[in-house]
Amino acid sequence: MGYMDRYIGFLKRYIKLDSLSCCQPKERRRREDSKKLNLFVYTDRLGSFSYGYDHPMRPARLRLTFERVKRYGLIEEENLIEPREATEREILWFHTEDYIEVLKKADSGILPEDAVRYGLGMGDNPVFKGVFQWSLLTVGGSLLASEFVLSGKSDVVFNISGGLHHAMPSRASGFCYLNDPVIAIHYLLNAGKRVAYVDIDAHHGDGVERAFYADPRVLTISIHEDPRYLFPGTGFPHEMGEESGRGFAVNVPVPPGSGDVVFLKAFEEVVPSFIEAFKPDVLVTQLGVDTLRGDPITHLELTTNGFETMVRRFKSMGIPWVALGGGGYNVEHVANAWAIAWAVMNDTEVPDELRDEPIEREPSEKHLEEVGKTVEFLKEKALPLVKERVMER
Ligand SMILES: [Zn+2]
Repeated sequence: MGYMDRYIGFLKRYIKLDSLSCCQPKERRRREDSKKLNLFVYTDRLGSFSYGYDHPMRPARLRLTFERVKRYGLIEEENLIEPREATEREILWFHTEDYIEVLKKADSGILPEDAVRYGLGMGDNPVFKGVFQWSLLTVGGSLLASEFVLSGKSDVVFNISGGLHHAMPSRASGFCYLNDPVIAIHYLLNAGKRVAYVDIDAHHGDGVERAFYADPRVLTISIHEDPRYLFPGTGFPHEMGEESGRGFAVNVPVPPGSGDVVFLKAFEEVVPSFIEAFKPDVLVTQLGVDTLRGDPITHLELTTNGFETMVRRFKSMGIPWVALGGGGYNVEHVANAWAIAWAVMNDTEVPDELRDEPIEREPSEKHLEEVGKTVEFLKEKALPLVKERVMER
């Protein structure tokens, strides 16, 4: 029995996973079976930027991921697409003109006057050479992903450089300067689509939630470490959206030290039921992997097997899918996890060497109970609002 089979057997002791066809990777689909082509957005330019030698965010992790995907034979030339730079008109969909002007000046690597007012130049969001270009590429990559998914040319496009979910309209935040998920979702809304955004990064997807807080065309779900212990300090269950968007912002905090079972319980008991009620046209996921064991800035202790299970779940939904990267500060783990994700997206067998050993760590009863209460609250307070509005459509 393989790694994942045994592991799923373990998970099933705690979580209902019936509908999840988890462990039977189909044979790689032959090209003649489908004209569609899944795409991996990457250019070596991305891997060459640097936030500074002592900064946890390492763009080099993107190159490492790409190299790993290649080394294990998980990608073919035709799957690769280079990101374009987003235009100023596109980033103005979310960001303010004055902030864009300052960020543009910061591209030289020298701190512009007034930069601090925009969250720039402090520890988290340093000004480095090419910071504007880097940001435009991450947004352009996510826009490209949305374009291909929307046109039906691809079932899934993975922009590993995207998922920079903390950036605010006129402020850099949490290593993020421009908010590529927001701008990509905006593009999809302009085309008349309903979008479900699911964020499994260790941190609350605050910038994305804020952008669509009053908008029932976008369902945002974020599962993250309890905001009492981790940046950005928001993402409590009662933050549910406002006005006609009430019920369409879903937050599931999980305790530090949760591990796979507790995180997956939160995921499995919330994500499918909300997605089913909302019936999105497009799925946008933020696949941050700072949830993994050994991440230097968070405390969730997931294994790649827990992460892989969630990616398989997304895949099984069969919804046109824009997949974005996100956090992840242990670069070796990042490369393995995103290589696994890409393999799952393509129904390719995952090499066991990429996976963590399947540790069958018993979950804490207290943690399970806490998450159970949150799930109950959300199903009682938020889910009926989503169902009601969707009925009215
Ligand atoms: Zn994060």
